[in-house]
Amino acid sequence: MSSKIFKTTWIVAISVFLLSLVLVLGISYNYFSKVQINQLKNEVELASKGVSVSGLDYFEGLNTEDYRITWIAHDGSVIYDNEVDSHAMENHLEREEVKEALESGYGEAVRYSMTLADKQLYSAKKLPDGTVLRLSITQVAIWTLLLGFAQPICWMIIIVLVLSFVLASRLAKIIVKPINEINPEEPEKYYGKENYKEVEPLLKHISAQRKQHKLDQEKIEQTALIRQEFTANVSHELKTPLHAISGYAELIENGMVKDEDIKPFAGKIRGESSRLTTLVEDIIDLTKLDNGGANTQWEDCDLYRIAENAIDSLDAAAASMDVTVRLFGSEAPVKGDPGMLYSIVYNLCDNAIKYNHVGGSVDVTVNTEGENAVLSVKDTGIGIPEEFCDRIFERFYRVDKSRSKEVGGTGLGLSIVKHAVMIHHGKIEVKSTVGGGSEFTVIIP
Ligand code: ADP
Repeated sequence: MSSKIFKTTWIVAISVFLLSLVLVLGISYNYFSKVQINQLKNEVELASKGVSVSGLDYFEGLNTEDYRITWIAHDGSVIYDNEVDSHAMENHLEREEVKEALESGYGEAVRYSMTLADKQLYSAKKLPDGTVLRLSITQVAIWTLLLGFAQPICWMIIIVLVLSFVLASRLAKIIVKPINEINPEEPEKYYGKENYKEVEPLLKHISAQRKQHKLDQEKIEQTALIRQEFTANVSHELKTPLHAISGYAELIENGMVKDEDIKPFAGKIRGESSRLTTLVEDIIDLTKLDNGGANTQWEDCDLYRIAENAIDSLDAAAASMDVTVRLFGSEAPVKGDPGMLYSIVYNLCDNAIKYNHVGGSVDVTVNTEGENAVLSVKDTGIGIPEEFCDRIFERFYRVDKSRSKEVGGTGLGLSIVKHAVMIHHGKIEVKSTVGGGSEFTVIIP
């Protein structure tokens, strides 16, 4: 960056110098040309007065080294010339300045010499007797002038080159130094400081990125922690039924179980295995949801029909508790993943049956309210103490561990529900009184 600033500054400085040089020379040359022609005009004015009065005598003893004076008759023949023999000179009638003077009283012309090295300025005036007096002066052409100045110009260019080199390299250092001194760990420190006004957008950008990075880091750490905890819990939850199964099997193997008890033992082994199956199924569901719903299949569904199916498949569970499950409401179209919506209703109804009193009831209502579909699952069960109402959605959280295990709970049902609702951009609420039953309400937009 420093070398780029240096190069640019150097090139700009030299270009500006050369351009100004050409401009100044051009303007001054033009100015002096004008001054000279004006002077020539005044002089031809004066000389014409003299010639009108004294005629050829006027030229006698005239010292005119710098000027050429020509007196031309009205027919164009030359009467007098101070440099060339007048008889040898051609007719001057066609010369621009002479023609103009004959027509309007005064004429001017500029002509380059054959070599183009210099130019001739002409100024001509018509005298009262019809003759024309012409004064002319030689002026060097601009390129000749430039050539004459070649040496000093070369010196100037060298000086400017060296000077701008030194200045440009210092300037580059001055610009880059404060930027290099920025500590990216604390860009806020430089806000509003004199040397850093121009780079403030950059500082703000760095600061915003640092904050974002910090947040991302925290999120990653938190996710890692949750995963770790989850894995530990899963291992623990899996170990319990496995230990039970291997314990029962060992007793049978060692002949410590009476023949008539083998059947109940086999039943216990089957019970533990089905617990394991449910647990593994729940873990698979939760892992799928953990992907943030990446494999969600969005479809037009009817929440009422889904509720009907879920309730049907819980018939046996409800019957075993002698719980009556009723469905109210009407068709409720939603855009969502049918599998996830099913597991929302299933888990809520399953809990409402599991944590109910024998002979209790569950009322499921599905309705539309404005743009939303609303599902409510209300039971007459044991209820949840208020302080646990938030925590029941955590993984493996159970209010009453032994009751949950007794009824085959995994502690994952409500976290699956919460996740699925979140993926559908919905909301879930709980209202519950201990002993008075609970009501879960889910709103899906
Ligand atoms: P579980 O598999 O243990 O039922 P959940 O995540 O579904 O796990 O529920 C977490 C806990 O919330 C349950 O262990 C239970 O204590 C409580 N809970 C859930 N639903 C109800 C309900 N309808 N009535 C009373 N308690 C409930």
